[in-house]
Amino acid sequence: GLEIRLASRPQGWPTQDNFEITQAPIAAPGEGQILVRNKVMSVDPAMRGRMNNAKSYVPPFEIGKPLSGGAVGEVVASNSDNFEVGQAVLHQLGWREYATVGESHAVAVSGETAPLGAYLGVLGMPGLTAYVGLFDIARFQQGDTVFVSGAAGAVGSIVGQLAKLHGASRVIGSAGSAEKVRYLTEDLGFDTAFNYKDAPVAEQLKAAAPDGISVYFDNVGGDHLEAAIGSLNDFGRIAACGAVSQYNASEPQPGPRNMFQIVTKRLSLRGFIVIDHADRRDQFFNDVGPLVRDGKLRYDETTVAGLRNAPDAFLGMLQGRNTGKMLVTV
Ligand code: NDP
Repeated sequence: GLEIRLASRPQGWPTQDNFEITQAPIAAPGEGQILVRNKVMSVDPAMRGRMNNAKSYVPPFEIGKPLSGGAVGEVVASNSDNFEVGQAVLHQLGWREYATVGESHAVAVSGETAPLGAYLGVLGMPGLTAYVGLFDIARFQQGDTVFVSGAAGAVGSIVGQLAKLHGASRVIGSAGSAEKVRYLTEDLGFDTAFNYKDAPVAEQLKAAAPDGISVYFDNVGGDHLEAAIGSLNDFGRIAACGAVSQYNASEPQPGPRNMFQIVTKRLSLRGFIVIDHADRRDQFFNDVGPLVRDGKLRYDETTVAGLRNAPDAFLGMLQGRNTGKMLVTV
């Protein structure tokens, strides 16, 4: 089957040359393994970090080896008592048509609550990130004024809607196009939104939240973080989730110039990585599953067809071509 390997490590923005599409033999599953025909796979911002040869919370991708990431597929051969041929499973060996997966690394999923792609978005890792970041890290409370950046993406779109559903007094989003701003306010129910490309973020945030904000969910970093520190009220909380504006920078980026306001306003800024919060998955699923099933939490997907186009989908996601979760059908 086809698979996509890391050909070389990018300097700055990745290009097609960093990826290599090859044919790999399809191995019969060994003891305790299943063979999965992938149907849909995820492209995530964090994959950009793994293309660098840098120590982080997950090991880097290796040159000459297939990339990996969340995928849902159908079991086509099973050498495990836990899985049957025909079952749908979620696992972490995307970027290939056929994956040989150990039984402890696959989870059965069903299309009952939502279509299978949702397990890579609202009901999967990005959804759990939104949930943990908002409720556990930012300690969201009813009446909060919440600002979320990257608001039209997989994580941000869920953060804003969860905040609204749980009684935020005001939810503000930023995104990179007029159409996304429209989407946030008209389709997702954000109170207000702005295009960060139109004018300085600090200015636009002040106009959107004249009385300040109490929570900032940071997907973007850079100017957005500085603007949020400037607009946070005393005892405000920041969930530091990501810094997508900096992932393709080849030099270390400067920090916010107003860090001392963290002291004067007694702010808290807390980073988190979703993989440390697997213990919240059941609660997350119990809370968010029904909202999805009943249509109270909207999730959109931008789908690119064909494994060969996965590098393009990944680059497109980093450039903002997605609304909601970016997926690739394999
Ligand atoms: P998204 O679906 O939000 O896709 C990425 C988006 O980033 C694009 O759609 C684009 O939207 C935006 N973007 C790109 N460049 C810039 C820029 N220079 N400034 C502002 N926005 C930009 O991705 P996810 O929802 O999967 O991830 C969102 C964030 O959450 C990322 O930072 C990611 O690393 C982080 N994350 C963290 C996790 C954790 O455990 N801490 C787990 C999962 C995700 P636009 O058109 O608006 O520019």
